[in-house]
Amino acid sequence: MGVGTVSLAALLAAGDQETEQEAVFLGVQPDDAPLFAVAVDPDDTKLLPEGARWEDLRKLGPDLEHADAALLGLARSLVSWNQSVRFCGSCGERTSPRRAGYSRQCPACSARFYPRLDPAIIVLVTHGDYCLLARNKRWDAGRFSLLAGFAEVCETLEMAVVREVAEETGVGLDPASVRFIASQPWPFPSSLMMGFSAHVLPPAAATSADGGPPYAAADALPPVTPVCMARLLPSP
Ligand SMILES: [Zn+2]
Repeated sequence: MGVGTVSLAALLAAGDQETEQEAVFLGVQPDDAPLFAVAVDPDDTKLLPEGARWEDLRKLGPDLEHADAALLGLARSLVSWNQSVRFCGSCGERTSPRRAGYSRQCPACSARFYPRLDPAIIVLVTHGDYCLLARNKRWDAGRFSLLAGFAEVCETLEMAVVREVAEETGVGLDPASVRFIASQPWPFPSSLMMGFSAHVLPPAAATSADGGPPYAAADALPPVTPVCMARLLPSP
């Protein structure tokens, strides 16, 4: 699968007055061509080359090269952030992009705004040769995930790991077993996902929502997409 680009000139010709002003500069390609990101209407197909289509970045993830995934993630996150800070939180005036879309400023009160990151944790919980998985009841059959959630105010990341697992599954963790493994930006919309491992406090008495055991044998894990943080966490 390839990831295509549309020229900025074509976007400006088809877009509204704000399109040029709101373009985010992503960098320069190896052939010296500058690369920009802009928000487009997903129902607008007239910009697309023959045979191409808009696609959700999350769906594309498993098929992307790492460099393409990183670039598209940056574009997705910055465009989303610029759209969310169009008005000043102090005085209500409309803000303007600065530094090619990496910050914004209010012309009335000079307040500056920068992209924010929301710290989130994801954890591989193990119990012997088994690990703890969860699933949303709205998901397709066979889709599971590790436990994950946002850190709350005045909470360490290790505390967030223990709390999230307890809240979502009822399983208690050994706080001393919580270990940081790796981190990954997660642009949906602006998280920094930090991966941990942890062990269950015996006895593990939790059951899944349908009454079955919440554990999966390590050799029976569902497939993990290449861009998922879960792929970086070691198997039990
Ligand atoms: Zn202001």
